[in-house]
This record gives sequence, structure tokens and C-alpha cells, in this order.
Amino acid sequence: MTYMTGLQAMSESEMKRLSLADVRALAKEKLASVGVDERGSDNLADLIMCCERDGPRSHGLMMLPHYMQAFSSGYAKGDASPSIEQIAPAILRGDGDNGYFQLASELARPRLVQLARKHGIAGFTCSNIHHLSALRFETEPLAEQGLIAFCFVNSLALIVPHGGDKPIFGTNPMSFACPREGVAPIVWDQASSVVALMDIKLAATEGHALPVYGGLDHEGQPSKDAKAISETLSLLPFAEHKGTGIALMVEILAAALSGSLLSTQTEEKDSFGALNIKAGVTTFAIDPAKWGNPLFLAQVEQIAQSINKAPGARVPGDGRLKKRAEALANGVLVNGELLARLSI
Ligand code: NDP
Repeated sequence: MTYMTGLQAMSESEMKRLSLADVRALAKEKLASVGVDERGSDNLADLIMCCERDGPRSHGLMMLPHYMQAFSSGYAKGDASPSIEQIAPAILRGDGDNGYFQLASELARPRLVQLARKHGIAGFTCSNIHHLSALRFETEPLAEQGLIAFCFVNSLALIVPHGGDKPIFGTNPMSFACPREGVAPIVWDQASSVVALMDIKLAATEGHALPVYGGLDHEGQPSKDAKAISETLSLLPFAEHKGTGIALMVEILAAALSGSLLSTQTEEKDSFGALNIKAGVTTFAIDPAKWGNPLFLAQVEQIAQSINKAPGARVPGDGRLKKRAEALANGVLVNGELLARLSI
């Protein structure tokens, strides 16, 4: 099921078309204005631009005011200098120095690729990071180098386990990427909730109900009432117990393996007015060439093509390629009110 995003819900007249270069320049300028250093602001401005280009737009310029708040309040460090240590033959451990994860991951990636190629599988776990944004940009570069990749991050507690009454898990997304022969890799990423928090907030603002049971109301009952859910901040996992299992797995792999804050440990961020907790991230990279099947890529192709053959079906994540081509050619539409808030 698809939900209208805030951007889709607006008419074109309320939107402004920006080139990707404009998006990046705006993000860079705003981040520099709250003290983010050259490297950090370049890295994060690139990420915001990539989210506007490929999706999810919810992690593009819409996130910039939250990022600025995190830096200006001192919750996140604008001159973070992450460190990476190899603690076992195929395991890297990182300390994000309270900056955005992308800085740590940029540092770790070449070593992770090298270790995966040497051992067939390697992992990178990182604590003390501020935020990660969309996971697809973590796994895609690994798949572009011929590796299968998984990435997991925990986040602010919003998901109630199936049958429970209190949020225990973050919206806990995960991403998977896999190389393909001669075409862009398979890259998908998804949260563990039925409906994204931003979509619930939008429905509440516009005064309409959700099309599905997306969270709990004030009586603790499954509800389609967007306003009530945006007040209880108690979201339901997708597919009931199955989504609960995925959210649990992400919480363990991201928070517990890295030794970061659990999704329920939100007190610290509240005093800074920040959106996110200091979560943990774990990435695994697998070199399929080391696993003994010379037909691996041919079989991936067979699977992908059989999905695409069915009318209406497509390889998950391939939507990004269409969005990317459109954005590169014509720029992107950005919410005019958001731009006004960012003083354009
Ligand atoms: P969506 O439900 O929008 O999409 C999930 C995946 O399914 C995407 O890869 C999407 O790629 C793919 N997809 C969508 N429609 C179809 C279709 N019809 N057929 C096949 N594939 C399809 O994602 P979520 O709302 O769950 O998550 C949004 C984003 O937010 C993610 O990028 C996630 O990483 C991020 N996030 C980050 C958090 C954090 O704390 N850092 C927390 C929660 C979410 P495409 O449409 O391009 O094909």
C-alpha cells in the first residue's frame, strides 16, 4: 500500500523546483551556519541531496531543520572525528565520536570491502553515532563493488511489539543490497512499522484517517486515527508478529552488538530538542565469489527477471533508479513552506 507523502499531497504551485546542485548548496550552507566542519557538511549535504534524488524524500531537506537543531544544541558534534579498529580477522568496530554515521562509514568502507574479499564475509559495528538517515546509501556502494550487503540501525522507540502496549523498538529499518550482472544492483531498505511516522503526522494535520491500523489509540487499541496515534506515538509493526521479529532482530544487531543506546533510552535527546537517539549501526558485507557458486550472478538475474516479468511487479528498490533519472534531468520539487523556513 502506498501513502501520500507531504510532498505528494501538495499542489505543484506550493512546491518549488530546485536542481540537485541547489539542494546540496542549501544543505551545505545551513550545516556550515551551525558550525559543522568542511568534511561533515560536505558529507551530510551529499546525503541530503541523494535522498532528494533517489528517495526517501522524508530524509532529504525535510530533515535539515532537525539536523541543524542537533548541531546547534550541542547534541551532535560538528567536528566529529570517528575512529575504526579491527578487533578480529573480519570484524571492524567504530566509535562515531558523536557525529553522523556516514563519516564513520566512509572511513570504514575500504577496509570492510578488503576484509569481505579476503574472508568471504566481514562486519562493521559502530556506536556513539548521532544519526544515519536512509540505509540504502550504506548498502548500495558495497553492492556496486560486487558485495552483498546488509545494514541495520535502531532508532527512537515508536513500535509496540505485537500484542504489547508500549513502544520498545525504534522504527528500526534494515537494508539489503546485491550486485547484478551489467545493471544497477538490487537495493532496498524499509522500516519495521506499518506506516512511517511522517505519514501519520501528515494525515493528522490534514484531518483524515489512515487506510490501515497503524498504531495504538489512547485506550491502547489498534487504530486508524492518525491524530490519536501521533499523540500516543505508539506505532504497529508491519505484519504483526513477523514485523515484531524483524524489529527485534534489528534492535539486537544494531544496538546490542555495537553497545549503543537502546531505542527506549530517549531521555538524553529530549533535553536537546533532538529528533533521534544515539543509535547503533551494524553492516555486514559478503563476497559471493568466495561462496563457491560460479552461477551466483546468473541466478540473481533469473530471480530478478522473473519478478519483473509479472505485470505490476518490480524488483524492490528499483523505483529509486527512475526517481534518480528524473531528478538528474529535471531537479526535484521541494515544499515551499520548508524553503521559507530555511530562509530562501
Ligand atoms: P517504503 O515502504 O517507502 O519502501 C520500502 C522499500 O520498498 C524501498 O526500498 C522501496 O524502494 C521499495 N518499494 C516501494 N514500493 C515498491 C513496489 N511497489 N514494489 C517493489 N518495491 C517497492 O520505506 P519505509 O517507509 O519503510 O522507509 C523509508 C526510509 O526511511 C528508508 O530509506 C529507511 O532507511 C529510512 N528510515 C530511517 C530510519 C533511521 O532511523 N535512520 C528510521 C526509519 C526509516 P523503491 O520505491 O525505490 O523501489
